[in-house]
Amino acid sequence: MSASPRTARDVGTAQRVLLVEDNPGDAALVEAMLEEASPGAYVCSRAGRASDAVDALLSSVYDCVLLDLSLPDAYGLDALDQLRAAALDVPVVVLSGRRDEQLAIGAVQEGAQDYLIKGEVEARLLARSIAYAVERKRAEVELAHQALHDGLTGLPNRALLLDRLGQALARLGRSGTSVAVLFCDLDRFKVINDSLGHAAGDQLLTDVARRLEEVLRTGDTAARFGGDEFVVLCEDIEGERHAVLVAERIARRLSEPFLLGEDQVHVRVSVGIAVTDRPTARPESLVRDADAAMYRAKERGGALYEVFDTGMHRRAVRRLATETALHRALDREELRLHFQPQLEMASGRMTGVEALVRWQHPERGLVGPGEFIAAAEETGLIHRLGEWVMEEACRQTVAWQGRLTMSINLSPRQVLHPELVRSVGRIVRESGVDPRRLCFEITETAVLDDVDAATAVLEQLKALGASLAIDDFGTGYSSLKALQQFPFDVVKIDRSFVAGMAGSTQEAAIVAAVISLSQALGLRTVAEGIETVGHLEGLRTLGCDLGQGFYFGRPTPARYVVLEPG
Ligand code: C2E
Ligand code: MG
Ligand code: MG
Repeated sequence: MSASPRTARDVGTAQRVLLVEDNPGDAALVEAMLEEASPGAYVCSRAGRASDAVDALLSSVYDCVLLDLSLPDAYGLDALDQLRAAALDVPVVVLSGRRDEQLAIGAVQEGAQDYLIKGEVEARLLARSIAYAVERKRAEVELAHQALHDGLTGLPNRALLLDRLGQALARLGRSGTSVAVLFCDLDRFKVINDSLGHAAGDQLLTDVARRLEEVLRTGDTAARFGGDEFVVLCEDIEGERHAVLVAERIARRLSEPFLLGEDQVHVRVSVGIAVTDRPTARPESLVRDADAAMYRAKERGGALYEVFDTGMHRRAVRRLATETALHRALDREELRLHFQPQLEMASGRMTGVEALVRWQHPERGLVGPGEFIAAAEETGLIHRLGEWVMEEACRQTVAWQGRLTMSINLSPRQVLHPELVRSVGRIVRESGVDPRRLCFEITETAVLDDVDAATAVLEQLKALGASLAIDDFGTGYSSLKALQQFPFDVVKIDRSFVAGMAGSTQEAAIVAAVISLSQALGLRTVAEGIETVGHLEGLRTLGCDLGQGFYFGRPTPARYVVLEPG
């Protein structure tokens, strides 16, 4: 500390000292000493009671507190406790009237930086004690910060996040909201670190930290757990859906390119989400659940996030995830139609194809409809998907110059959608397809729920010129009833019967009965899932009209479908 006289300019850098002393004489003496030690270097405020001192610490900033231990409203170390509770970061020098080694040690143990005895203090000693106290406190705060923060990014570390999570959980019961932990892991960090070097890797991590802070609300905490793992704590969450939105916000922001020196790099993040509204949840368990969910997101590939939970919550979120992914698939034109041939059993001539949708997923490869049609149904996306399928199938029918019948699957929700007939009409018009070349395949579950509405739709589709097939025939409870009630033209015998035919006379009898019943009703029959020449011959003998199955050909892209001459 400089001993040279200070001018008014230096007041800004003066030490702000809070003098907690109820004896005005003593207080004046201390102020005089400080002025003597270094004129103008200290700006003193006084508090005569511990409670006043607490108020002062809560409302203004001080560099140091000088504390008398015998105050009217607090005695001994009590006063020190109260002050430290109000301002943990401000150093405290005790000025005591008593020479008491025990008390002195106690004070330092309780967090005081020094213990001076009033009668023995003189100006330079007091000034030095304050200077040391300030410096020691600064180092202590710095160390505490280091212990609770990540050195590279400056974000809170695991210890601090767990601490804040514990506090957030403890507050839960009152608000009726939830706490979410989002475990974020960068997918390509190692590659970037290895190829561009550690400096670039560090830069990337720092940039990620900044972006995380940007997308979070104040009050939320982003922490770095080491490596490329970041953990976000969100309070006041209104349930999973809300947490998922935060995950999406994070994923979106991190999917924007990073500029590392000359290089533009892309990273992807996998987020595992754990949500709870139970104040008794343990912070470590919640983080572990989020971590596990993150691994599942990674496993699933392509999934940006995964929520840890069981039962319906989990389903709801998964649906949302699939919905998001499917939206993207449609936007990015990742859907494909494959076509599986249908042949006349008697002649072996290919007369048509069934259009079967696939998802050309950028990471998972070709994904079958079994994995996304149900989700599309549940979310309503089936309508958009279905329109795409119809447009594409009609376009292809025209490209084949109407030489093949095109069978198109309609799921239950599509059938009952009030716009279906109109949109089929529009697509037929716009594509120029001959509607008599179209056959819509519908399962009985689609029509039996609302018989009247379904009947009306089927009649209108027929009125457009298309034919109708009942798909997966025999698998439902009321297949025969459906056949009687609705205007179908074709019966598709489910492949489970075809597969069972060879081994079981009972199954063979069912197939025989279905075929003869269909013939009696004037309907054509198509057997699904013909895989062997045995299936083929058995069905041909029974008089089945058309066949479809791996034996004739698997579903393939249009360019591999070989048209027969003529
Ligand atoms: P589906 O309409 O019964 O289609 C026949 C399914 O059987 C297809 O499965 C086909 O690949 C498979 N298959 C054909 N021949 C054989 C065979 O010899 N052996 C065996 N084991 N399987 C065979 P895929 O393509 O996975 O489609 C599954 C279901 O997804 C379809 O059953 C249909 O209900 C639905 N689906 C497919 N495309 C669409 C679509 O564009 N829209 C709607 N709404 N549903 C679709
Ligand atoms: Mg079908
Ligand atoms: Mg089928």
